[in-house]
Amino acid sequence: MAFSLNLYPITYIARYNPESGKWDEQWIEFDNITHDQLMEMSEEERQKVLDNRNQMNIPTVSYTSQYAYSCFEGMKGFPTKDGGVAIFRPEENGKRFYNSMKGMYCPPFPVEQYVNASVEFVKRNAALGYVPKYNPEWEKSDYADADSIYMRPFMNSEGAIGVGCAKQPYVIICATTVSAYFKKGLDGAVITNRVRATPNGTGFIKCASNYVISALAKKEAEDAGYVECIYLDAVEHKYFQEGSSCNIFFVLKDGTLVTPELEDTILPGITRKSIIALAREQGMKVEERKISVKEVQKKAVECFVTGTAAGISPMTSITDLKGKKTVFTDGFGPVAKKLQHLLKGRQYGSIEDPNNWNTVVIPGNK
Ligand SMILES: *Cc1c(COP(=O)(O)O)cnc(C)c1O
Repeated sequence: MAFSLNLYPITYIARYNPESGKWDEQWIEFDNITHDQLMEMSEEERQKVLDNRNQMNIPTVSYTSQYAYSCFEGMKGFPTKDGGVAIFRPEENGKRFYNSMKGMYCPPFPVEQYVNASVEFVKRNAALGYVPKYNPEWEKSDYADADSIYMRPFMNSEGAIGVGCAKQPYVIICATTVSAYFKKGLDGAVITNRVRATPNGTGFIKCASNYVISALAKKEAEDAGYVECIYLDAVEHKYFQEGSSCNIFFVLKDGTLVTPELEDTILPGITRKSIIALAREQGMKVEERKISVKEVQKKAVECFVTGTAAGISPMTSITDLKGKKTVFTDGFGPVAKKLQHLLKGRQYGSIEDPNNWNTVVIPGNK
């Protein structure tokens, strides 16, 4: 059940009102079918319910549907070991969403409203049983196959046809349960000659249009038997940028953890930021800088990609544009394993969360 679309019954929608300068909020209850009831239905009945939950009354022709003028967030809620539910760093997603909207010259959605709506969203859906149950078995693999709530807040423009920027956008929050992200059975990453983001473009904001190229490059990678495509910089085609929807890290022979520095072509991942903080807490040397294909081929022993959906996913190899394959650890290397343990442990509440990264939505019994 990698990344399927089983939307929860309650959806949040807010609309910007240019007169008041505020966002008018609304909760849409598509149905009040509990998770257990849904699971007891026949396949056919269930599909009808799920299809209905994916039909919203938003404009057919809009800057969003015509020009991919939209931005979104990917954020997770976790069932915690103490029986509660928490959202991981929602204020970080809220800030990034705000920056994305500002970067798109549309009225930005306030961070506080984003966080409050997200918390309320999880509460309302949890009341109908839409929270994965915590399973202690997950601890054995550091939650590699654990379930979580995947929230997808996004912006949609008003109805419009000429090229332009939204003035009365909608913000919608919906969610589905997810487990592991990458396809099983495929292996290794391949460098693509496509360019995801150019200087002075939109690479640093999480906008929908960036994903068209990623969809193409990822399909090409998968068709060639790889699990992920990796982008190089747009100018020199020498330095690593990131994966199709995730940031990239390398562990060098001397133990240094290196990830490309943030510039306007790289998406500032919240998982990336968290991994850097965790590694530094462990006393590891972490460098945010340019890292070339040549350097990786000579010096890297581990490679992994990070993202809300991907978590920490090891890449067993990277094949360059000439077909030269550099092999890293098979599966999780020691550094990726350690970081996975720390990150997931905090998210699922099996280890302390000294930085208060989790926002508790439903308290557990501790
Ligand atoms: C969302 C995204 C990431 C990962 O960001 P997280 O906040 O860690 O989920 C990385 N790269 C791209 C291009 C993205 O869109």
